[in-house]
Amino acid sequence: MHSRDSQGRRYGEPLHRYRSPYQRDRDRILHSAAFRRLSGKMQVFTGDMGDYHRTRLTHTHEVATIARTVARVLQLNEDLVEALALLHDIGHPPFGHSGEEALDECLQNHGGFSHNEFAIVLAEELETRYTSYPGLNLTREVLAGQNFRITHAADEGSLAPLLEVQLVDLCDSIAYTAHDVDDALVLGLIQFDQLGGLDLVRRAEGWKGEPPAPSAEARRKALVHSLIDVQVADLLEVAMEDLGPLAGMDTLAVRQLGITLHLSPTLASEREQLRQFLFDNVYRHPDLVAVRTKARRRVQALFHHLVHQPERLPPRFVDRAQCSGIEKAVGHYIAGMTDRFCDTVYENLIELGHAAAPDW
Ligand code: MG
Repeated sequence: MHSRDSQGRRYGEPLHRYRSPYQRDRDRILHSAAFRRLSGKMQVFTGDMGDYHRTRLTHTHEVATIARTVARVLQLNEDLVEALALLHDIGHPPFGHSGEEALDECLQNHGGFSHNEFAIVLAEELETRYTSYPGLNLTREVLAGQNFRITHAADEGSLAPLLEVQLVDLCDSIAYTAHDVDDALVLGLIQFDQLGGLDLVRRAEGWKGEPPAPSAEARRKALVHSLIDVQVADLLEVAMEDLGPLAGMDTLAVRQLGITLHLSPTLASEREQLRQFLFDNVYRHPDLVAVRTKARRRVQALFHHLVHQPERLPPRFVDRAQCSGIEKAVGHYIAGMTDRFCDTVYENLIELGHAAAPDW
């Protein structure tokens, strides 16, 4: 995608003197309050489990950096890729997927809740940074890219999503498969010998032909970057073969051809095996299940408390309830919270009986 071909923004703005439209989008996302709050939102492991594992913020940067590297090799639009990567997880509620499931249940009769949709609500409505329009007024391509994460359907009729959009999606899973193994090893949720049967781990460990690492810690560190390298190398190899013959073709023609970026079948099935392992041994680990149960109860209790006592909401969410209904307004208020903010509001309102919930 060429920046000069951008379809522009909902609220027209003159072009910037020295930043491309997607550079501006990247900067708008990076400077948003919602982006900063990612540092207080858990990825998989909570703040109670230490300070050194990934948060949504560090995950987001890992996705962005991997995606930029691939974009540069494939000569895709790096600025667009970076903007899409920085935006991709901005809509996560507190407490990761358990927070999301709890809100989705609460909003069952009101359209449900999805972090991918909430990212659009934040970007278009809740971030108020400019006086002349609501939201960040991002380009249509960035919003369409985030929208693809919701629908996973070809948009505009039969057009495949931009390669930049597909790339960020792939790099998201490359990043988390690698870093969740890393964090789970550090936290002692899994041991190295459990990984021996995984084809992708075996491939990654033999990847550079280096001598065996001298300690478990060195082995873990080497494994994480090899897991990323081996997947990125495969993605690039497949992509260069598929895209090579298309050199010189314009964006629309490539989209019409329905070109997809993907891993080779062998790597894709090896990665699926690793993902399944993570589900069975990490994401469903008893320590995490206990954290999740508590998080889910808190989100649900807070939701029902505020739906029944809407006067306790911050004024702008009381206003939003007029249009969207109280349930959605409460859902969006909770979804914007960090993990700690959610805990504090829960304790203040429900345990200490405070009369008003603060805005984020
Ligand atoms: Mg992600």
